[in-house]
Amino acid sequence: MALMRASTYPLLDVDAAAALVLEHTTVLGAERVMLADCVGRVLAEDVTATASLPAFPSSAVDGYAVRSQDAGKALRVLGESAAGRPFAGIVEPGTATRILTGGVLPEGADCVVMVEDVQPDGDLVTVPGALRRGSNFHRPGDDVRAGELVVPSGIQLGAAELGLCAAVGLSWLPVHRRPRVSLMSTGDELVEVGEKPGRGQIVDSNRWALLAALREAGADVRGLGIAPDQSDTLRQLMVDALGDADVLVTSGGVSVGTHDLVKPLLESLGIVHVGRVKLKPGKPFTFATLPEGRVAFGLPGFPVSSLVTFEVFVRPALRKMQGFAQLKRPTLPVRLTYEARPSADRTEYQRVTLRRQGGELVAETTGSQSSSRLMSLAGAHALVRIPPGDQGIKAGSIVEALILALP
Ligand code: AMP
Ligand code: MG
Repeated sequence: MALMRASTYPLLDVDAAAALVLEHTTVLGAERVMLADCVGRVLAEDVTATASLPAFPSSAVDGYAVRSQDAGKALRVLGESAAGRPFAGIVEPGTATRILTGGVLPEGADCVVMVEDVQPDGDLVTVPGALRRGSNFHRPGDDVRAGELVVPSGIQLGAAELGLCAAVGLSWLPVHRRPRVSLMSTGDELVEVGEKPGRGQIVDSNRWALLAALREAGADVRGLGIAPDQSDTLRQLMVDALGDADVLVTSGGVSVGTHDLVKPLLESLGIVHVGRVKLKPGKPFTFATLPEGRVAFGLPGFPVSSLVTFEVFVRPALRKMQGFAQLKRPTLPVRLTYEARPSADRTEYQRVTLRRQGGELVAETTGSQSSSRLMSLAGAHALVRIPPGDQGIKAGSIVEALILALP
């Protein structure tokens, strides 16, 4: 049996460790996907309009297409231009056509008069005494100009982006592949959810928490169950787990206890770049590169530690793989309502709820910040970043918050 020994991995600053992770993570290739399946995917190439939108002068209202010089006159109505059914003729002086929203402005007309503003009389309409050329219709290119960048690569495709891509005529889009992630919990104490834990056993909750976090971050996740704290078995399970995965995520087994086997196994399979971080919670976070451009994240076992290290290291990496232009969560300054006691030598991410007060966001602690207490993260709006130090940060101070959800 191995002896417990102090870790030999250098204790890295959290920002340096996060930078190392990103440096060793590569952007995945692209695939062509039909619009309906592009929701939430990240565009791999700029989408540029090949033609203007609207492509023709298009009425913004229901009314009459007229010549502005004919202001104040009774005009003969020649016909109708409805959406999808243009009027074929020309609006000559002294004439008008009925026009409906989305109808093509007929040749000769230079403005549209709203139906409410005319006086019909048989096949004549009298238009107001002042008409403005160009009013009440959209000119070609008003919405999108030919050649204009419509959606840049690196943007996640949501409703407006997909609507734009459809409007410029694209039914398939190049999007980055989703990262395939194999997810495994390690620990002899773990039992499957639904089973009754015996004495000393606990339910494997990390796998479900991490499954959710991974899916939310865009990963295609394969859950691989519980691996024991037994080196040979764990090694084989890790090798099998890698299969066609891009990423291996494990929880547990990365601290310095006798049964913490993940670090040496990752070392035997690849290169461990991060083995310890000045981060609370999450000091034993481990990151390795593996052959064929794959990466492994060894997350600590404590539930809050695994999710905080997910936020700080894994989520940005998954976003880089998917080609996101924006890798990090937004940060905002928030005012503490409590005195935050910093860790002497580690950056701490404390879980808080936020509320608006005047023009500010104020942060309330979620209670005990123990790394086993998942209740500290449930409902949290943000992680406030408390730099290491020996002085308490007074209530009323402004600190930086990583925003998970705004109140
Ligand atoms: P470890 O990082 O393996 O030393 O685990 C630290 C602690 O985290 C363990 O004592 C467990 O209480 C807890 N833990 C480890 N794995 C899990 C898991 N999959 N689900 C919930 N808690 C876990
Ligand atoms: Mg363990």
